[in-house]
Amino acid sequence: MTDPVNNKPRRRFLGGTGAGAALLAIAPGVKLVDLALARDEDEPASAETRWGLLVDANRCATDCRACVSACEDEHALAKTGRKPLDPQWIRKVELVDESSDRSVSLPLMCQHCEDPPCVDVCPTGASFRRADGIVLVDKHTCIGCRYCMMACPFNARSFVHEDVTGQKSYSPRGKGTVESCTLCVHRVDQDRTPACVESCAVDGGGALAFGDLSDAESTVSKTVRSQPHRGLRPDLALNTGVRYRGV
Ligand code: SF4
Ligand code: SF4
Repeated sequence: MTDPVNNKPRRRFLGGTGAGAALLAIAPGVKLVDLALARDEDEPASAETRWGLLVDANRCATDCRACVSACEDEHALAKTGRKPLDPQWIRKVELVDESSDRSVSLPLMCQHCEDPPCVDVCPTGASFRRADGIVLVDKHTCIGCRYCMMACPFNARSFVHEDVTGQKSYSPRGKGTVESCTLCVHRVDQDRTPACVESCAVDGGGALAFGDLSDAESTVSKTVRSQPHRGLRPDLALNTGVRYRGV
């Protein structure tokens, strides 16, 4: 049976307790794949939609971490005494043009690639791309091999080394699995804006815009058509869903 949301055999995602699957401390009764399939009942993720983010580096202040804090709060990633290997789904990076010494600050998260190397190398199908372009990890079929982390050219994925506490039911996590930015799929499926975008508009410089890149009338689509922009590592031809201006 083919799953209409991510165009993969449904059984591949529902067999989370099969051989080799990690035993996880995920919120009782909640599977990330269920969230991914939530629209199956009424409004499936559609290949006619391509969700994307547009980052305007000109509006991103070096010392601003509004998006990072919002993401950490939204997905219960934050904790006191953060260690270097603790999961981080979005981070601020500084790019310096050596010829001019110009530097820009920008947020880096999963780029939601159209041709994701993380999905290509995943031996269990835990890494998958929804029809609408959102790339996710099914924590119940992830065996923690970390092939996807090695394949990702953006270092966008994290491994959960420790027990998870205080997790949100809409964003299940589990020790021994890999995770990355979900594009706040739980919000997107409720026609809401990702937490980082919302926070950037209120507490940051309004550097983040979210929308449907396939919709000619969406703001991101119009901006992408009319303004110079780029995806990161265009040489890899991954057709990323996250685009940058001012880089
Ligand atoms: Fe996968 Fe990395 Fe691309 Fe995200 S940025 S879709 S984790 S390869
Ligand atoms: Fe984090 Fe959501 Fe922004 Fe992704 S879209 S970086 S999960 S807040």
